[in-house]
Amino acid sequence: MGEVIAAGGTSYSFEFFPPRGELAERRFWKALRRVEAVAPAFVSLTYGAGGTSRDRTVRIAERIAAETTLTPVAHLTAVGHSRAELRNIIGQYAESGITNVLALRGDPPGDPSGEWIPHPQGVRHAAELVEMVRSCGEFSIGVAAFPEGHPRSADPDSELRHFVDKCRAGADYAITQMFFRVEAYLRLRDRVAAAGCPTPIVPEIIPITDHKQLRRFAALSDAPLPAALADRLERHRDDPAAVRRIGMEHAHAMCARLVAEGVPGLHFITLNRAEDALALHAAVAPHRPARHPVGA
Ligand code: FAD
Repeated sequence: MGEVIAAGGTSYSFEFFPPRGELAERRFWKALRRVEAVAPAFVSLTYGAGGTSRDRTVRIAERIAAETTLTPVAHLTAVGHSRAELRNIIGQYAESGITNVLALRGDPPGDPSGEWIPHPQGVRHAAELVEMVRSCGEFSIGVAAFPEGHPRSADPDSELRHFVDKCRAGADYAITQMFFRVEAYLRLRDRVAAAGCPTPIVPEIIPITDHKQLRRFAALSDAPLPAALADRLERHRDDPAAVRRIGMEHAHAMCARLVAEGVPGLHFITLNRAEDALALHAAVAPHRPARHPVGA
């Protein structure tokens, strides 16, 4: 996947999470099949916080590889795993023909902002996981980037240094945390380039459709909303249709500006519902009629 992202042009891709339960799984496959119809560069599948969805992530990524035309990018986090366990999971991915891994350190189980305690036989930072995946075979490896800064970083300069080290450990590309201010992405991209690191950074976009959910995500990801957007959303908080329209207009404007800025791709968060992400995709991807008007 690194080659596709580095090839120039804009790649379009979608993030899903492994569903829990029969009904959720049925919905998941329905959404995935709708996304398959627009032939994205890849779909990524998250790894539950604290390693909770390990079996589901592996099983579903295997099925995507075997039963669809999609390329799965399987997330892998180091949380709660020894090095031997991590090698085992990477081996399982390889055996199933999954050659794309997003290598992440992960957050502690329970409280994501709690103290990060590495497994005694595990890895301490994502860079070590990147090295491990690289040593296990022919993988294309992605890593995480944080336009608004990672909440645990001591300062922006050390964060930049660690990010560049992580890329040099063998990452082919990075995908960002969701963010709401295009300037934050552009600043990160410029700083990484100025540090001599050519790793392409794909922005992750969340379609904004729900006021409460948006506030929760913005707080969880430490990604502030632009003041004007926050004000507009607040004024319409009791009008779900208006919130949806304002939110989707903002997400669309972000996508359009990012594409104009020459980003290597856009990675849409779906929350396992295809409609909103596909509406954004249809509005920005070339040669695709907008079947779902943005904000409708
Ligand atoms: P690292 O790169 O290890 O960085 C973590 C912190 O340590 C940073 O502050 C960094 O600056 C610092 N650091 C790095 N190296 C060093 C060093 N050598 N010395 C000192 N400090 C250092 N979480 C999940 O649980 N499951 C998922 O599926 C998932 N998917 C994600 C997808 C994307 C696109 C993104 C952006 C994040 C995702 N996350 C996921 C969240 C991620 O696991 C957390 O944000 C985690 O806290 C950081 O992971 P990382 O890989 O960036 O860690």
